Amino acid sequence: MGQKFENRVAIVTGAAAGIGKSTALAFAEQGATVIVADIDEKAGEAVAGQIVELGGKAQFIRCDVTKDADVEAMVALAVNDYGRLDFAFNNAGIEIEHSKLAEGNESEFDRIMDVNVKGVWRCMKHQIPVMLARDEGAIVNTASIAGLGAAPKMSIYSASKHAVIGLTKSAAVEYAKKGIRVNAVCPAVIDTDMFRRAAESDPRKAEYAAAMHPVGRLGKPEEIAGAVLYLCSDEAAFTTGVALPLDGGATSV
Ligand code: NAD
Repeated sequence: MGQKFENRVAIVTGAAAGIGKSTALAFAEQGATVIVADIDEKAGEAVAGQIVELGGKAQFIRCDVTKDADVEAMVALAVNDYGRLDFAFNNAGIEIEHSKLAEGNESEFDRIMDVNVKGVWRCMKHQIPVMLARDEGAIVNTASIAGLGAAPKMSIYSASKHAVIGLTKSAAVEYAKKGIRVNAVCPAVIDTDMFRRAAESDPRKAEYAAAMHPVGRLGKPEEIAGAVLYLCSDEAAFTTGVALPLDGGATSV
């Protein structure tokens, strides 16, 4: 166990699987107390249990980021039970069936915006006042390379991730003088359940996805976790408003 984040408290949403799970484990590995937040109670409890078994500190809370009361309770848990909130990784997100723009429907649009965009917005709305009380805090939101450019057949998802970057940059500038840093990570294709669900519908996707990264492979959740921890650390004290591609070179092609 490292000591980098000893006595610090971190919230991770979407922490029951994939990128969120890896990041929750990585925060705990560095000594932080982790609020493991997700709608998946069984898997979320298991992640918190795994952290405790490894000698770390964690508590699961069921939190649906589309419900303001859930988000409020998640932030209150950090403050009431652990006395502070240092870091928030607002990572919960969903994808949708791939389709061209004209084939999309309005309920899909509303659902994805509610989770991916309003979810991040609700989280920051509750986290920032708590951080302002101590003039200190670091927030990282999960966008995507789909938030940096076109994502054919994923236009609604792409729009949602562009919006996450807009929220991130605006909040970063608004609170820059208040000791709160706000950044986004922009992963390319990462080998998680989200990717595997998409690849199941079309096995060629796995091959295509690996080939789209100049490094020739998919990303690993731990590789995103490492960047999130860096963005939360004092080494990144001069870094705010950044939308950091973590993409094996994909956006450089
Ligand atoms: P995943 O599906 O493996 O895990 C997502 C987690 O979020 C799950 O545990 C799920 O239960 C939880 N979740 C879903 N809706 C929620 C809600 N309303 N409230 C709380 N939790 C909820 O996905 P992942 O690949 O780890 O993706 C995490 C984030 O990374 C998402 O925002 C996704 O858009 C983004 N992302 C993923 C990739 C990729 O290739 N996997 C690439 C770029 C960006």
